[in-house]
Amino acid sequence: MSQYVAAIDQGTTSTRCMIFDHSGRVVSVDQREHKQIFPQAGWVEHDPEEVWQNTREVCAGALAKRDLVTSDIAAVGITNQRETAVVWDRTTGKPVYNAIVWQDTRTDRIVDELAKNGGPDRYRARTGLPLATYFSGPKVKWILDNVDGAREKAEAGDLLFGNMDTWVLWNATGGPNGGLHYTDPTNASRTMLMDLDTLSWAEEHAADMGIPMSMLPEIRSSSEVYGNIRERGALGGLPVAGILGDQQAATFGQACLSPGEAKNTYGTGNFVLLNTGTEKVMSENGLLTTVCYKIGDNDPVYALEGSIAVTGSLVQWLRDNLGIIAAAPDIEPLARSVDDNGGAYFVPAFSGLFAPYWRSDARGAIVGLTRFVNKGHIARAVLEATAFQSREVIDAMNADSGVDLTSLKVDGGMVANELLMQFQADILGVPVIRPVVAETTALGAAYAAGLATGFWSGEDDIRNNWAQDKQWDPSMDEAHREKIFRTWKKAVTKTFDWVE
Ligand code: ADP
Repeated sequence: MSQYVAAIDQGTTSTRCMIFDHSGRVVSVDQREHKQIFPQAGWVEHDPEEVWQNTREVCAGALAKRDLVTSDIAAVGITNQRETAVVWDRTTGKPVYNAIVWQDTRTDRIVDELAKNGGPDRYRARTGLPLATYFSGPKVKWILDNVDGAREKAEAGDLLFGNMDTWVLWNATGGPNGGLHYTDPTNASRTMLMDLDTLSWAEEHAADMGIPMSMLPEIRSSSEVYGNIRERGALGGLPVAGILGDQQAATFGQACLSPGEAKNTYGTGNFVLLNTGTEKVMSENGLLTTVCYKIGDNDPVYALEGSIAVTGSLVQWLRDNLGIIAAAPDIEPLARSVDDNGGAYFVPAFSGLFAPYWRSDARGAIVGLTRFVNKGHIARAVLEATAFQSREVIDAMNADSGVDLTSLKVDGGMVANELLMQFQADILGVPVIRPVVAETTALGAAYAAGLATGFWSGEDDIRNNWAQDKQWDPSMDEAHREKIFRTWKKAVTKTFDWVE
């Protein structure tokens, strides 16, 4: 009897394989970072072949670290950085271009062009999304428009599109000539090409963007046996039985399985998702409507999402571009060396601003500087930016849902930062709760795969596995909280209209 479930987590900065036991505890993990390719300002790419190579290595590595063999594993789930788009040749398996990453803003002109007919919300009613550089559809159009010969090949049926879930699945389940060309509704709902009600491709949108339907993967559920991993290689022969985009996977792994339950993931960016059940809630406050998960033949469950492009990656920027810290965790003692932000506010609009503003014309700004401000204050401003941005999307969520959040479940790399967690509770005015297993993204994908194969019997198993590690309660004076939040909002306005 296999005791474990494996999850492949193809993230923005790294790819991991994590192995979980029945109680949802991590048994083994292996991880490899891949290159971040910045060919020009605003462009962000990954090499899909490097990512696939890393995927194979971490799968083998996670088994080897604990002397596990394939027969110890019952099933494999996939979770992935969403929206990042790969186009490859279906015969050779070679990508025709690097993966264009979700943060990339090169499609701003395509997006403006599409908005001329019907405005920035022309696709919102059907897809839940505003027109923005963030989503996959315009990225695919860019590749077809700009890579020599790509459009002809695509029209001849020779090219395939996939997000990272599909790229990993296609490679894992096939030889050089390819395997399963599937995706799940959580990933498909981020392309701007999927109808939220029917969970099928919106052919008109694909036509608007000049994307042949033959490129698009088949949309399956988030939890079912899609097929088996090819025999040669790590995890060979095992069923792949779950696919969830990373943020939806984290929502699942946090056991936010009932309407009204929400989580905030603090990674490269931040993503707040609120489960709205089988009801699709359209936002009037700048949030996205998205598929939260679809388990087998059950009705889809929807979510409201507040996506923030830059949070943890601002800490990386401080480390890599300014060299103020040597490693991400060093930001906490540096920020603790001062009492407050010294009047400095850092709005990291590096990829424009996502929720709730959706302004591709914004660029980053540090404001409120005086001679007094030192690197400790900047470190604080960096951490506070994450908490302020989170407050903005949670305010929007409260307004859209008509119910105020009473506590917030958190996860992701930045939740190790206790100063940030306390400030987040202070600035929200509600408790912030960290679970024992903070690896909720991989865990959610494992749950999806384990539910489909009977390893876990139902959602109650997931709820019962969830356990609290630590809670932070708000302690800031309310007048002070609202004053600094007002100042933050003023700082945000300074980033608008920068790109003409
Ligand atoms: P992702 O899954 O998006 O790749 P992770 O959840 O692994 O991201 O989180 C990594 C991010 O968290 C990085 O951007 C890093 O800068 C940030 N980070 C890690 N540790 C800390 C810390 N102690 N304080 C603040 N930020 C941190």
